[in-house]
Amino acid sequence: MSETKDLPQDSTLSRRAMVGGVAAVGIAASTPAAEAATPAGPALVDPRGKYPKPPFDKQEQPWPGLARDMRPRPDHGEQSYKGSGRLRGRKALVTGGDSGMGRAAAIAFAREGADVAINYLPAEEADAREVIDLIRREGRKGVALPGDLRDEAFCTKLVADAAAQLGGLDILVNNAARQQTKPTIGDISSEDFDATMKTNIYAPFWITKAAVPRMPPGSAIIMTTSEQAYDPSKDLVDYAMTKAANMSFAKSMAKQLAEKGIRVNGVAPGPIWTPLQVSGGATQEKLQKFGGDTPLGRPGQPVELAGIYVQLAENAGSYATGQVYGAAGGSGQP
Ligand code: NAD
Ligand code: MG
Repeated sequence: MSETKDLPQDSTLSRRAMVGGVAAVGIAASTPAAEAATPAGPALVDPRGKYPKPPFDKQEQPWPGLARDMRPRPDHGEQSYKGSGRLRGRKALVTGGDSGMGRAAAIAFAREGADVAINYLPAEEADAREVIDLIRREGRKGVALPGDLRDEAFCTKLVADAAAQLGGLDILVNNAARQQTKPTIGDISSEDFDATMKTNIYAPFWITKAAVPRMPPGSAIIMTTSEQAYDPSKDLVDYAMTKAANMSFAKSMAKQLAEKGIRVNGVAPGPIWTPLQVSGGATQEKLQKFGGDTPLGRPGQPVELAGIYVQLAENAGSYATGQVYGAAGGSGQP
């Protein structure tokens, strides 16, 4: 049996996690060396023991899955992400903003002072509500725009609605994606292939096309790509193709939009503990060992990438365009 409690929601680990989760979670922060406070700042945290490591429980949800039903629940920064005004006054649209990397980015953006619109599938309303509440608790505008991105008309309307309700648009995160493990090419139906291409390639194309004319100089577009763009798994053929396409799109659009003063970059996560993985994205066998083969020996949590999205969106990141920033626990590329 592996740990099934909620994750520690702060770098100073909760008493509950310390008492109940040390064995499976492998919390190194209980050792004196890991707890040693730096003179000016918070305690150092050993990245190896910061979050749960395998073995994980087998678990399966129908696509697209809910973060709230995962065991353990992912950490999207609900308690732990602290902002400091880095995105004050900014207006962001995040697709797949209900869970995973999108939710971590949405929470961080709001804590940094941005108003945030999120898109998600209607089946994910429960996760999305939590995110909207967290955004509004920061005193920021939180806009919920559910709908299916495989439809061009919806994508165009999504951008128009986001810009209308936020009063503009200067951050776009193309993050939503479909991932389904299939052992052989013969197992990928044309319907599967089409759904993956529509969600992961067409939707960011349609959304970006609608967004660019509305985005002023200084705006930022961020693609969530993957280590799969560089080192594809044999059971993720169609998905990995799309992640390579997302990476390429970030680079070509960065060149094209430089003359408008709009930056375009990518984030390439390694194995991250999100609903995507427990709703058909990984085999049960892979899930039980998830992230165990990385040098850090565990999967990442969405909040561990939140700062990358903030950095790529903020004015301070002004010389980064056409770049892909990775976070993969020591494995993967870039
Ligand atoms: P996630 O399940 O939390 O997020 C994916 C989101 O995509 C869903 O929440 C859903 O709202 C959205 N989505 C899917 N199909 C949609 C559709 N037809 N219409 C509207 N929305 C739709 O999982 P995640 O892992 O956070 O995924 C976010 C991004 O991270 C994806 O681009 C994924 O490729 C990338 N990524 C994930 C991992 C990982 O290990 N989890 C690794 C590398 C890259
Ligand atoms: Mg979701």
